[in-house]
Amino acid sequence: SVTLAEFDAELSEAIRNEERRQEDHIELIASENYASPLVMAIQNSVFTNKYAEGYPGKRYYSGCEYVDVAERLAIERAKALFDCDYVNVQPHAGAQANAAVFLALVKPGDTVMGMNLAHGGHLTHGNPSNFSGRHYRIVPYGLDPETGLIDFDEMERIALEARPGMLIGGFSAYSRHKDWARMRAIADKVGAILWVDMAHVAGLVAAGEYPDPLPHAHVVTSTTHKTLRGPRGGIILSKGQGEDFYKKLDSAVFPGVQGGPLMHIIAAKALAFKEALSPEFKTYQRQVVTNARAIAAVLQQRGYKIVSGGTDNHMMLIDLSDKPYTGKDADAALSDACITANKNSVPNDPRSPFVTSGLRIGTPAVTTRGFGVAECEQLAGWLCDVLDALESGSSHQVACHVREQVAALCRRYPVYR
Ligand code: PLP
Repeated sequence: SVTLAEFDAELSEAIRNEERRQEDHIELIASENYASPLVMAIQNSVFTNKYAEGYPGKRYYSGCEYVDVAERLAIERAKALFDCDYVNVQPHAGAQANAAVFLALVKPGDTVMGMNLAHGGHLTHGNPSNFSGRHYRIVPYGLDPETGLIDFDEMERIALEARPGMLIGGFSAYSRHKDWARMRAIADKVGAILWVDMAHVAGLVAAGEYPDPLPHAHVVTSTTHKTLRGPRGGIILSKGQGEDFYKKLDSAVFPGVQGGPLMHIIAAKALAFKEALSPEFKTYQRQVVTNARAIAAVLQQRGYKIVSGGTDNHMMLIDLSDKPYTGKDADAALSDACITANKNSVPNDPRSPFVTSGLRIGTPAVTTRGFGVAECEQLAGWLCDVLDALESGSSHQVACHVREQVAALCRRYPVYR
């Protein structure tokens, strides 16, 4: 047998370089994390070879007895983790879970209300470039420009006027708690379905560190690879809605938007949910929030503005709109220091989404590699040093200095080695 390096030197080198990059860089992209070695190993299992269209016990192919075990484990563990009575673990990713919800619960042309992408929503919540924005009449809601908080009164006013068939809760960039009970009350007033996409905060929800949407929403979707720290994938959850509702969701996933499920990923989801049911996972999620607060405090002490004034979850959005440089410049300067974050629009951003006036940072990945408050405060200090230097034109020199300290810290906290 040949090794990967012998058979495909280019690919082998790309993987080695990526392994090194993940070890040597500090990862602050709020949607990323490091899956455990066991989650990684299961994705590499023979389950990848198996076709299993359908659901456990009702497959279109023979030979599904062992993949059925894996899928049933994933479903049962997710039900225990999120205290719910319906789970579909087949969505290939968050976007597919969301597509299935649209397909199951509204018709093309129906009115749907979602959080404005520019205020922290996700593409699949109605952006014009996405299927959601193309096929449905989207009415966005957003943040109060003064406070940077979701304006629930305004959400209610818009809902009463637009009368959506579905109201979407959930976000890709919002650092505060969302009031799910209030959203359900608004949905009930207009007869809308409440769907919460908890992709970013699912791990925090599982650990009791973020308000649980399941008692309030008709349906909840999530990715499995962000704070939840599993393999890349999606899930759909629900509670107390009854079999007819669940059948609609199941048939929207398969055969609605997908063919054969990725059984190796579903097995890895089962393992990740077992990890998430452990006491260590709760401790980890608590530390994720503590670390985010520690970073926000340093940034604010050093004069940086955080949208909404702080964070209650794993992320924050730094508002750079009063700075002489852009989000893109900040992103590039931090990359130069081996710190990976992402440029992000801030509410009412005058700049394009490719340039932006903000930076989104999050703590799931650094917390997984073992950073505590002391390391996060140090890291936040370096972040400020690099950004300060952008104003004086000395960011490259400062980045070179910070890079050495980043390398030393990363060696102290290896990800996999
Ligand atoms: N929903 C939310 C809130 C997200 O932030 C994301 C990804 O960033 C998704 C859905 C889409 O997930 P995926 O990239 O797995 O399709």
